[in-house]
Amino acid sequence: MSDASASQPAKRVVVAAPRGYCAGVDRAVVTVQRALAVYGAPVYVRKQIVHNRHVVETLEQEGAVFVDELSEVPSGSLVIFSAHGVSPAVRAEAVERGLRTIDATCPLVTKVHKQAVRFADKDYDIILVGHTGHEEVEGTQGEAPDHIQVVNGPHEVDQVEVRDPSKVVWISQTTLSVDETMETVRLLRERFPEMIDPPGEDICYATQNRQAAVKKIAPKVDLMIVVGSGNSSNSVRLKEVALEAGAGAAHRVDFASEIDPSWFDGVETVGLTSGASVPEILVREVVERLAELGFDDVEEVRTTTEKISFSLPKNLRADLMAAQGAASAHKRREPAADHTC
Ligand code: SF4
Repeated sequence: MSDASASQPAKRVVVAAPRGYCAGVDRAVVTVQRALAVYGAPVYVRKQIVHNRHVVETLEQEGAVFVDELSEVPSGSLVIFSAHGVSPAVRAEAVERGLRTIDATCPLVTKVHKQAVRFADKDYDIILVGHTGHEEVEGTQGEAPDHIQVVNGPHEVDQVEVRDPSKVVWISQTTLSVDETMETVRLLRERFPEMIDPPGEDICYATQNRQAAVKKIAPKVDLMIVVGSGNSSNSVRLKEVALEAGAGAAHRVDFASEIDPSWFDGVETVGLTSGASVPEILVREVVERLAELGFDDVEEVRTTTEKISFSLPKNLRADLMAAQGAASAHKRREPAADHTC
């Protein structure tokens, strides 16, 4: 009797690592959770704290209120600025409206803001490689609107005009495709040979690491699934990078329930990754769904290990410590428990 299963090709899942939460996202999400614990609901958050539907919906259930503009926040309330950062105009508006603020801007975005201010002070023309309309780009551009122009990619390089070609610098959004950005910079340099580079890499470690991991597994997979939301720049880039690196096909999903069984016709190996704003539970649910579809041989391929973490915003830390101090003092004042039965 022949063994039918022996002739079946193995259905494999190759999971990229690193994937999912980066240090900036973790800090921003914990900031909202701790703020809810210390100050109580509602806590207002300007824009989505991070670009992930599941995270935003979960925090909403815990008492966070997401708004698009500060005008929606009642005077005197607490508002948290998202991981993507805000322009000085937004900070000024918060002061004007008497809002209390906690800044959950990722420190790596703040670093780009500081570069923009520094070069604007020296009167450079600053070319910001990034996506028009993305919150991070709006925040960075707002630091020096008279000096910064946004270039969305190689196709826009021809339109760039500068006052003095010997005084040009480029900076970038933190979540871009590394390869496409380098191509944009190469074309910019052809036009402006004296253009200088930013002092450090603007595309952040998390974006780079997730793209490198995807590049490693993409050539070996028939289909890549990227877990992440449609407004998550780094998640969308992961799908593009997977296709460029040789994946047979690629789909981005917010949730496992969006997986369509028709994607798997003729597929033997599925690659899996997730954007920097995606909690691991969503990846686990995709792994379970793939197992239901017969893909139950799961292997993780890790290209590097990340050890970066950021401390919480300073004013929140101070209030957390004060709250903890008050709670311990209250405990000390409680009468000793009566242990008799
Ligand atoms: Fe910060 Fe990078 Fe994460 Fe954005 S993707 S929050 S820049 S670490």
